[in-house]
Parts: sequence; structure tokens; C-alpha cells
Amino acid sequence: MYGVPEHAMQLSLRLEDQEEEPPQGEPTLFSLAVPSLGGKPRLNAPPAAPARSRGLRMTPSCRAFRNRFFPAATDADWSDWRWQIQHRIRDLETVRRMIRLTAEEEKALELGGNMLPMAVTPHYMGLIAPEDPDQALRRSMIPTVYELRRCPGEADDPLGEEHQSPIPGLVHRYPDRVLLLATDFCSAYCRYCTRSRVVGHGAITPNTRRLQMIFDYIRSHPQIRDVLISGGDPLTLSDERLEFILSNLRAIPHVEILRIGTKVPVVLPQRITPHLTRMLRKYHPLWMSLHVTHPDECCHETARACGMLADAGIPLGSQTVLLRGMNDEPEVMRRLMHSLMKMRVKPYYIYQCDPITGSEHFRTPVARGVEIIRSLRGHTSGYAVPTYVIDAPGGGGKIPVAPDYVAGKDAAGNLSLTNYEGGRYRYPDYIA
Ligand code: SF4
Repeated sequence: MYGVPEHAMQLSLRLEDQEEEPPQGEPTLFSLAVPSLGGKPRLNAPPAAPARSRGLRMTPSCRAFRNRFFPAATDADWSDWRWQIQHRIRDLETVRRMIRLTAEEEKALELGGNMLPMAVTPHYMGLIAPEDPDQALRRSMIPTVYELRRCPGEADDPLGEEHQSPIPGLVHRYPDRVLLLATDFCSAYCRYCTRSRVVGHGAITPNTRRLQMIFDYIRSHPQIRDVLISGGDPLTLSDERLEFILSNLRAIPHVEILRIGTKVPVVLPQRITPHLTRMLRKYHPLWMSLHVTHPDECCHETARACGMLADAGIPLGSQTVLLRGMNDEPEVMRRLMHSLMKMRVKPYYIYQCDPITGSEHFRTPVARGVEIIRSLRGHTSGYAVPTYVIDAPGGGGKIPVAPDYVAGKDAAGNLSLTNYEGGRYRYPDYIA
């Protein structure tokens, strides 16, 4: 069920400890009032009060959500990433108060079992449509029974990461780079997560012994020049624990590039603090890949978080999973790419959804992704066109898939090309 702890360790939420301990456990839920959909407050809830937040700029739906379901939360509470984690929405009873669940959602939340846990930050819940089960953001966070089916071709570890892992939480697939799983904890769980077999189950923790083994491995492999720190979500660690990882990696002479993969600026933008960005900028060249799914995620709070990261000199790129009925319309994807550009995030990858167990309702035909790239290339700035890739099942790595603009070559060596409008052009592909 969804109430089980993700980690065995307890979370320290004392404000004075804010930067000392990573959030590795599940806190007591709902110490604040959570009224029902009908707006009737619980008996122990403080009286509803208007938002005392004139100074805090918030997305209107988030403000309305906060006023309704967390009326006692102050601006300081809401802006505190640890408060957001402590008050994540994680169980059926609470979700039911906040959104009108469908039978498919209710059933999934009842059955739960060993599947990926459900957790949504209050910030992100404020973006979710309570009455629209087809809304992309809702589908990305609220489980349905379709997750419980295993369809042909699906697997728990379709990318074969377990076979390319010399140390728990380290994947060495490409010769010159490694993937370091810092933690399996996320502040919110995406229903289509490629690592749903591990995330949220507490098996991968940022403990020093495991991390030291990873540092030793990287140190003894001089061909590794690029380390991607991911998870789970590494930005859910405390500044100190994250700096422990970054500083140890930066001390290895042959590690040139550090990267962080995260969805935090989207689901927990409050985590991007001046203290964090000051720390991160010490470890350049440091890049960041942001997991963004839909233009509606690009709200004021997320734009602000991206701006702070960009101001810290961190090049930002996006990763977007192509999801059926959520972002597989060219117009939606174009809006997303433009929104990313405005937030100073370079659209980097669109991923074909991996065939993880229970993902069939999220997957599209590959032809859909090709059509989306065709709808972008030439129709918008080149910077706004990401690379569409399939992560090859079995561990073959990312394989780009693109529309074919080369129509052929004639006997004289002229290349026949098709441009974005369907016009035919010839290029003399020969040297006289
Ligand atoms: S944030 Fe990333 S690791 Fe966490 S659930 Fe979403 S896709 Fe998986």
C-alpha cells in the first residue's frame, strides 16, 4: 500500500537542521489541515484563513490549492522544500479529498502492492486538475490500474541496467561515462519511471560506504570523463550530502564533466535555493538535465528555479518522455519546447517511452515521435528541436530516430533533399 515508508531511516525536519540531513524517510503525514473536496475542514483543523502571502509570487492554481488544503501554511512553510516533502500527498484517503478520482485511479490506489509508490508534492498537486482525469500532469502522478498489467515486450529492467552495474547504484554502459544513482528517493513519482523497479523502495541510499566504492571505481577507470548523478532524484539530498558527492568526484583528475539529472525544479522548485546554487557553482563544469513532460509544468515557480540555476552558470538541458495522450501532439510538444527555451533550458532529448512493466497505456508508436520531430524541424528555432531517441532495450544505449530528409542520389552524384515544407532540392555531393 502507499503508506509504507520509502526508506527505513527517519527524516529529520527540524528547521535548524535544514541543510544537514537528506530526506531519507517518510515523515508523519498531514500535520496540517486537509479539508475534503467539499471544503469542509477537519475537526482538528485551524480555521480557514486567506493566504497570508502577499509577498510570495505563486501560480494561481497553487495558491488556491494551498488556501483550500493547507490553510495554516505560511509563506515560509510553503517555500521550504522540506515542508513540501513532509507534506507530500501519498495515500488514497488524502488524494480522494483533493481530486475526484476515477474508478481506475481508486482501484490502483487501493491495490498498490509493490508497485512504484505514489507521492506528489503540494506544489505539484496545485497544478493538477481535480476534475479532469485526462490532464497530462494528473496522469503523470496519479496511478491507474493499467499500471498493474504486464504487456508483451515489457520488462522491469528493459534497459538491462542491472547487468551493467559493477557496484550497486553505478551503471557503466558507455566507455567514457557512468551513471551514479545517488538515492532512490524522489519528491514525486512519475508513473512511467524507467527505474520504477528501484525508486522509492529504499534500496539505494546515499551512504558513505557505497559512495566511496563508487568513487574508487571511477578513480581506477581513467577513461571515465563524465559522471551523471541521478537516481531517484539527487536534488532531494541535503546540500551537504550532495556536495560530498560533487567534491569527491571533482577531486578525480580525469573526471571532466559532472551532470545532474533531476525533476526537482518541476515538482519541488522550492528546493532551488541561493545556498544550493552557491554550492553547485563551485563544481563547474556542471551541467543539469531537467525532466519536463508538459508545458503546464513550466509555471512561475519552475521558471524562477531554472533562472537561478542558469544564473549560477549551469547549462540546462531538458529530457522529455513521449507519452500517449499527454504530450504526443505536435502542438503540445512545440509549446513545451518554447516554454523551455523561455526558461533558458535547451530542449535536449525526447525519449521514446521505455517498455517498463505497466507502461502500455503511456507508449506511442515510434512514428509519432518522428512526426513530432518533423513538425518542429524548420518550423521553429533549431535550438528548440531536441533529439528523439530510443534507449535500446537490453542495454544498447540511446539510438537517435529522425525523419529522413535525404530522398536519394542521382548518377551524377547530386543528393536529392526534402526540406521542411516538402520542397525538393539538390546538393552537388561530389568534388570535381
Ligand atoms: S523523477 Fe525521475 S527517477 Fe523519480 S520517479 Fe520521476 S522519472 Fe523516476
